[in-house]
Amino acid sequence: MSQSRNYEALRLNALYEMEILGSPVEPRFDRITRLAKLHFGVEAALLNFIDEHRLWCKSCCGADVEDIDRRWAFCDHTIRQDDALVVNDLSTDLRFADNPLVTADPGIRFYAGYPIREPTGFKVGALCLLHDEPRPFSPEELDALKLMAEMVERELESDRRLRAPEDGVDVASLSQTIARAQNIFLTTESDRAAFTVLLEDLLKLTESPFGLIGELKHQPDGRPFLRMRAITNLAWNKETDDRYRQNDGDGMIFEDLDNLLGQTILSSGVVVSNDLGADPRSGGTPEGHPPLRTYLGMPVVVGTDIVGIIGLANRAGGYSEAFGRSLEPLCRTVGVLMERQRLHLERAQTRAVIEHAANYDSLTELPNRRLLNDLLDRALQEAECLGHQLSICFIDLDGFKEVNDRYGHTVGDAVLAHIGRRLGRLVREGDIIARLSGDEFIAVLRNVESDRVYQRLVDALARPISHEGRLLRLSGSMGVTRFPQDHSDRDILIRHADQAMYAAKEAGRNCYVIFDLAMHHSRQERLQILDELRAGLKTQQLELFLQPKVQLCNRKVEGFEALIRWHHPLRGLLTPDQFLPALDTLEDETWLGEYVLGQAIIILQTFEAQGLDYCLSINISPRHFLSDSFVVTLTKQLTPCSNRVRRNLILEIVESTAIDDLCRAVNIIEDVKKLGVSFSLDDFGTGFSSLSYFRKLPVEEIKIDRTFVTDMLSTIEDRRLVSSIINMAQGFGRRVVAEGIESEELAADLICLGCDLGQGYHYMKPAPVEVALEWARTWHAGKRPEPPAQRFDQPV
Ligand code: C2E
Ligand code: CA
Ligand code: CA
Repeated sequence: MSQSRNYEALRLNALYEMEILGSPVEPRFDRITRLAKLHFGVEAALLNFIDEHRLWCKSCCGADVEDIDRRWAFCDHTIRQDDALVVNDLSTDLRFADNPLVTADPGIRFYAGYPIREPTGFKVGALCLLHDEPRPFSPEELDALKLMAEMVERELESDRRLRAPEDGVDVASLSQTIARAQNIFLTTESDRAAFTVLLEDLLKLTESPFGLIGELKHQPDGRPFLRMRAITNLAWNKETDDRYRQNDGDGMIFEDLDNLLGQTILSSGVVVSNDLGADPRSGGTPEGHPPLRTYLGMPVVVGTDIVGIIGLANRAGGYSEAFGRSLEPLCRTVGVLMERQRLHLERAQTRAVIEHAANYDSLTELPNRRLLNDLLDRALQEAECLGHQLSICFIDLDGFKEVNDRYGHTVGDAVLAHIGRRLGRLVREGDIIARLSGDEFIAVLRNVESDRVYQRLVDALARPISHEGRLLRLSGSMGVTRFPQDHSDRDILIRHADQAMYAAKEAGRNCYVIFDLAMHHSRQERLQILDELRAGLKTQQLELFLQPKVQLCNRKVEGFEALIRWHHPLRGLLTPDQFLPALDTLEDETWLGEYVLGQAIIILQTFEAQGLDYCLSINISPRHFLSDSFVVTLTKQLTPCSNRVRRNLILEIVESTAIDDLCRAVNIIEDVKKLGVSFSLDDFGTGFSSLSYFRKLPVEEIKIDRTFVTDMLSTIEDRRLVSSIINMAQGFGRRVVAEGIESEELAADLICLGCDLGQGYHYMKPAPVEVALEWARTWHAGKRPEPPAQRFDQPV
């Protein structure tokens, strides 16, 4: 901002110095505007100059303008953008649509302008074309306009040459030097190099062997000094050469200004001395210094302030004030460049301060969360590329709140700063320590070879802190997760470390815990299954398959067991062992249980509608069965159902259902039985059941687990167990179902042992309702049925 203000001041200065605004209309410019109007066939061609407030038309062909308010000057935009400006239709350009020159009737609709520079390089005006209709403008036309603008510039240059003083540098060479300087400063990153080139050019231009460009600075106490931006190497011994080379001239400080250098600053004008030896103003030179005979000092001024000096020495024939003044445009350029550099530096410093504040925690001076994110992202990328391992450690202080409460926040803050420093000292270069918030820190360690490293961090946190005569005791709990084993992204890694930190707190604090990846993965999988399952429920991916329950002696189909299946969109048909374990909350088990119950009721109602009197068993998970809502919901679901439906519904529960609270289980069974529903004790034999236990559960049926049944023919113990279960069940008046019958032989043996009912692949694998019913319709007692051809569980 202030740079552009300065530039504008210098620009105006250059404009006034041309003394062009006051001079009468000059035919040499009219020649150019006429040529332009004719060539482009536009309404008007103008040469305009712009001062602080107004646009002044110096030559105009096709219109009658003398001056207008700068606000409405299209050419002002051309000057500001320092490039050709072409607006094909002014009325559609937001910058100009409201301009009274455009909205007038007839208004101006087309503008093309090319900036005009005065000989030292400042943009002072523009050559422009106006037209009352929108108009295209080809690249060739633009070239022609540029050419005409250059004609104007050449005219201005010859003006200057006419006005150049007797003793002075060649104006064309001066312009060239200035243009080169501006160019170098625009295109070079290093200001140092740019000043050096500028000084070399200057020495050549003025035929001076020695020179310097110094920037005026002030000590904190106000004393001025000069800092060299470029200086000829005048070293006369090793020491001075070293001093020169140390900073290559750039940055050399001249504090002693009690000499001609200071004189230039004091007088703010050109200082000439053509006999240095005899000049009382010269402060003399150190011993060995090459002799200085003639000297020219020029102030570098920005606005009204001296910002530096240019010094030249030993020009053969000496210098004159006129010669010095002829270099003024160059001095002005140097001023602008110095100012520009100062602003750059200032801006960079402000940016650095702001950046620091945004990225570092002010209390501990450690990276904050924001910077941590960047650093961690970078570290992860690097670890990925180089095959590094990273440990992400989440540290939370134990007992920090107590310190704060007891001693106040000032002490708390001091403790945090202390811990921050302590952690910083412990880690290796390239590791990261950051403060997340409050008393939470993150350490990111590279390639930790031993867990002892983690312990060291924890130990360091537990060392007492002495603060203002007090000894404060805290400790820290730390959670660690390791990349790439834990191949998660940044935020998840931090979350995992945080979870492990909680485990460390639970384990008694003052310790570290490493994130359990295996557990996490299985949990993640479970969560994914659950998500999909919930979605699958809504989109009818779940289905109850039926497996017949057959009276062994007469092979009559008594009913079916409903077994849930999941038609997974990607994984195909899934059996319960592939997804039921994912249900680990009561809530999940409940929604699935209620769904199965609902479906079973629908199936029973279909049976009823078709006049089929089959029973249907469904499996109820212990937690769901024991939940408060079970009886209530079941009652609600059964309310609209007929007695037949209720009578044919069998709930299969497993022994473990009653393990914790036999009484409660019995009560629920009794309540449910009042609804007309009966019970079966599933998987019998696998649990712990004692005889008395079994006696107390008021179930109508028990199912012998298929593991015993399947091996019964080969393992004598299993056969004995099956036999005694059958006997016992009969003793207590319960029906017995044998699961897992896979052969006729097995069925025959079970009949021998007195078993009532059987289920198994020998009869039918679980299949969809229609398939199971079709099977049952065609299944003839005593006759082996045709195997159903449709979709079925695959053989195991
Ligand atoms: P379960 O209640 O013991 O069901 C019997 C299991 O034995 C079924 O497995 C059935 O397909 C299988 N099976 C039947 N006959 C034979 C045979 O001759 N040989 C062999 N090898 N297996 C046979 P499935 O359908 O995979 O069900 C497994 C378990 O999942 C069930 O064991 C039950 O505990 C549970 N389950 C099934 N559906 C549901 C349900 O809707 N809700 C609940 N809570 N659990 C269910
Ligand atoms: Ca079952
Ligand atoms: Ca079973």
